Amino acid sequence: MDGNTWDAEPDPEFIRRARSILGAPGVFVAADDKRLYEHGFYGERGRALAVLSPADTDETVEMLRLCAEFGLEVLPQGGNTGLVGASIPDKTGAQVVLSTRRMDQLAPVDLVNRSVCTGAGVRMSQLRAALKAAGMWFPFEIAADPCVGGMVSTNTGGSHLVRYGDLRRSVLGLEVVLADGTVIDSLRALRKDNTGPDCKQLFIGSGGSFGIVTRAVLEVQRLPLARTAALVVPRSHADLPELLRWLEARYGEMLTTFEGMSGNAIRYAYAEFPKLKRFFTDEAVPEYAVLVDVASSSEFCAASLVDDFHAALAGLAGGSVIRDVVTGCDADFWALRDAIPYALSRQPLALTFDVSFARSRLTMFRDDLCSLLARRYPGVVLADFGHFAEGGDHATVVIPESCKTAQSSLQLMRLRGDIYETVAAHAGSFSAEHGLGPFNENVYRRYAPGATRELNASLKRMLDPAGRLGRIKFN
Ligand SMILES: Cc1cc2nc3c(=O)[nH]c(=O)nc-3n(C[C@H](O)[C@H](O)[C@H](O)COP(=O)(O)OP(=O)(O)OC[C@H]3O[C@@H](n4cnc5c(N)ncnc54)[C@H](O)[C@@H]3O)c2cc1C
Repeated sequence: MDGNTWDAEPDPEFIRRARSILGAPGVFVAADDKRLYEHGFYGERGRALAVLSPADTDETVEMLRLCAEFGLEVLPQGGNTGLVGASIPDKTGAQVVLSTRRMDQLAPVDLVNRSVCTGAGVRMSQLRAALKAAGMWFPFEIAADPCVGGMVSTNTGGSHLVRYGDLRRSVLGLEVVLADGTVIDSLRALRKDNTGPDCKQLFIGSGGSFGIVTRAVLEVQRLPLARTAALVVPRSHADLPELLRWLEARYGEMLTTFEGMSGNAIRYAYAEFPKLKRFFTDEAVPEYAVLVDVASSSEFCAASLVDDFHAALAGLAGGSVIRDVVTGCDADFWALRDAIPYALSRQPLALTFDVSFARSRLTMFRDDLCSLLARRYPGVVLADFGHFAEGGDHATVVIPESCKTAQSSLQLMRLRGDIYETVAAHAGSFSAEHGLGPFNENVYRRYAPGATRELNASLKRMLDPAGRLGRIKFN
């Protein structure tokens, strides 16, 4: 048992009643069965009193009422790929995990409306596979495999945000169960619905603290008819805005990805995953590279897109903005990009910052960050990568073993504080797309405006008066 945990036994009557509704496959109390739900991506650990896995909305309602009756806190969990510590229970052993994984029902795609109704537990990969068979596409591709409910609750961003927006933009309808079992039903497949404030927006991005998402109607896209990618090496990081402007001018909404990767991030990926296709020798890894992806589902544009893209980039290579263009198999480029977060998570000591800025300030932020690190924390390594077109930077700072001075907890705290101050100085966000959780709750208290925090706290009190849902209390 960890120092600050205790092994609470669930009330046998609670378990008996939960089992009478969900059956044995829906209730876990044995330590081995719960383990999967208690560990997060970065190795963080919690302790669950029990794991409940309802199969539909009615069962979710019954579970929330039962938990309310027994005065238990409930933590919704989807794919458990969240990166802010909010998807696992705390260490008290008193929280019930409500897993949505059995809510994996998927309705047939409405091809005319370009929409699909999905259960909260449908995985991104399951959704994409089903859509592909119908010639459709859900344009959220990230290096993990989350569930729809988790994506709604964190308002997932991802690599195609520049073209399709964050998840919020794809949610047409939502069904949510509140802590007391009330069902908020706005599960409609409407693009326009101006019958009052759009209440479903409250639950998108609120991390499971306001209610449990049980179903969603999502807008989907036609599968691209043409799609291609290249790895572009700019002369320097400072040339990225110019490159982005050029790509947007030439390809408009066909530009679907503009993902930055620092040379250090690429080096960590190569070191941790030797089987990755090598685009650069160790000596020739550039300071920065960008994965650019263009796609079109228009018959009119698709025919010429691939040839034009490669010819136009080749024409710019060696010029004032682009040093080099690497062409090859698109899947290999994506494998490199997707390996980076896993490679960095394997480093013994690394701090990650999921920050965003107006695009025009991103390179200025990075310059300031580099000089801050060089001045005050010599020896640490900035291995950043991210969704540059959306102003995002996953600024990961790796602290090598040799860098003893930066390793003390006091220094780490100072380093975190200094970086968030730099973010604030550039009017940036301290949580670009991963949402709120125990890892950044104190940053929320420090940087979110007081009136905003008070509004969120009021909403929390109204929707969940006993404060029993989720890891974020908004207090
Ligand atoms: C390698 C890797 C790469 C990633 N890349 C990206 C990226 O590019 N862009 C991005 O935005 N994110 C990214 N993420 C983060 C993560 O995948 C997203 O935040 C995702 O949306 C979380 O979904 P999930 O189903 O795993 O939710 P979980 O991790 O299970 O939960 C996340 C939060 O949502 C709540 N929640 C879960 N399900 C529900 C529900 N049904 N109702 C109410 N609340 C619920 C939980 O309580 C928790 O607060 C990445 C993660 C990994 C591991």
